[in-house]
Amino acid sequence: MANQNIPYKIYLSEDEMPDSWYNVRADMKIKPAPLLNPATCKPVTPEELEVVFCKELVKQELNNDDPWIPIPEEIRDFYKMYRPAPLVRAYCLEKKLQTPAKIYYKFEGNNTSGSHKLNSAIAQAYYAKKQGLKGVTTETGAGQWGTALSMACSFFDIDCKVYMVKVSYQQKPFRREVMRTYGASVTPSPSDTTEVGRKILAEFPGTNGSLGCAISEAVEAAVSTGGEYRYVLGSVLSQVLLHQSVIGLETMTAMDKYNIKPDVIIGCAGGGSNLGGLISPFMGRKLRGEADYQFIAVEPASCPSLTRGVYAYDFCDTGKVCPLAKMYTLGSGFMPSPNHAGGLRYHGMSSVLSELHHQGLMEARSVTQTEVFEAAEQFARIEGILPAPESAHAIRVAIDEAIKCKETGEEKTILFGLTGTGYFDMFAYEKFHNNEMSDYIPTDEELEKSFANLPDVK
Ligand SMILES: *Cc1c(COP(=O)(O)O)cnc(C)c1O
Repeated sequence: MANQNIPYKIYLSEDEMPDSWYNVRADMKIKPAPLLNPATCKPVTPEELEVVFCKELVKQELNNDDPWIPIPEEIRDFYKMYRPAPLVRAYCLEKKLQTPAKIYYKFEGNNTSGSHKLNSAIAQAYYAKKQGLKGVTTETGAGQWGTALSMACSFFDIDCKVYMVKVSYQQKPFRREVMRTYGASVTPSPSDTTEVGRKILAEFPGTNGSLGCAISEAVEAAVSTGGEYRYVLGSVLSQVLLHQSVIGLETMTAMDKYNIKPDVIIGCAGGGSNLGGLISPFMGRKLRGEADYQFIAVEPASCPSLTRGVYAYDFCDTGKVCPLAKMYTLGSGFMPSPNHAGGLRYHGMSSVLSELHHQGLMEARSVTQTEVFEAAEQFARIEGILPAPESAHAIRVAIDEAIKCKETGEEKTILFGLTGTGYFDMFAYEKFHNNEMSDYIPTDEELEKSFANLPDVK
């Protein structure tokens, strides 16, 4: 089909949405390393995980073999409230850049929570409800996950307790109010409501908090309820990548329909869920030898786990209460400088994406805040959508690749994930407009100091 026949937006019909999630681990010859029990350094058992996580989600977490996991009908019905998400041809951006490249983005910001996180939140709330739980606990950094989870929990009428990193709690009061509108309770972290929170407060008085620390509090809050609550996590875990595969599956259906083959696939990477979800089905084709693609993970230079971290077993949280995961990590004690892409400030990376990167199947790049916001603003002015700072990391590299095509004359097809909108990030945009944005990049010494505290796993 000739390119001029490709519309600005490709919308699938509801019956073209996937009825199963795709589990990329099934097609990986070398599987991601198993989660370990920190006390014994042995692979965690389902029974151990079920103390913290919902039973069905534990099954999904440990499932390295089934390529397809059916999406329950209730979840598919919820998806229909805001999906299928459009695949957009960025004609306006192409024209402005005068590039021969063809640029597409999958837009996940069309729901109240404003990001892709709702795709996994609704699945996790569903399984918690089905298990008969009273509710779930979680942490939120920038606030998108907490918002998504409160929407999902209110839909299934279960309780939602959110530990919100203190600095975002203060910077983003409106996010907090959206969560409360959906019935969630929101506590700034570290707080004095948990033992680990009190310990962190005593050790670092005046701390602004971190994701790793909020995770520890949320886990403790769940485990101490004697089984009425479980902890849920919005990124990093393999189950989350699985749920997010709905992004890649819809994209693939839309592209196949119009005979479009992406050459380069780009996504921002915090814990890896949107990127993992977008690339999974394409990576599956690559792993099965059916097609080839270039995959690029984009992370902030201030929190560069894939580009400067080490591939090792590490704790997932500051309080060291979660299992150990093998991943590219900056060390669980690493406190990134307060950058404005809150959703990309995690010290580690999905063990699935870490293993794919380790095998050379996926590249990684890091970009500084100022270049990210330049791209964000350019994109808003040309394509109309005001992007989340996290998403703008992918936009930055997509624009860079398109400019390269202009120089070489290559007509590459570039696909990137536009994970969400930035309406709650105007504080960050304000800093950018006032030239008050800093580009702090950790030194090698700082990273070495953090690596020295990695757990010793034989
Ligand atoms: C949370 C978030 C991210 C980063 O999380 P991943 O798990 O790496 O996808 C990216 N974009 C937006 C809009 C987010 O809310």
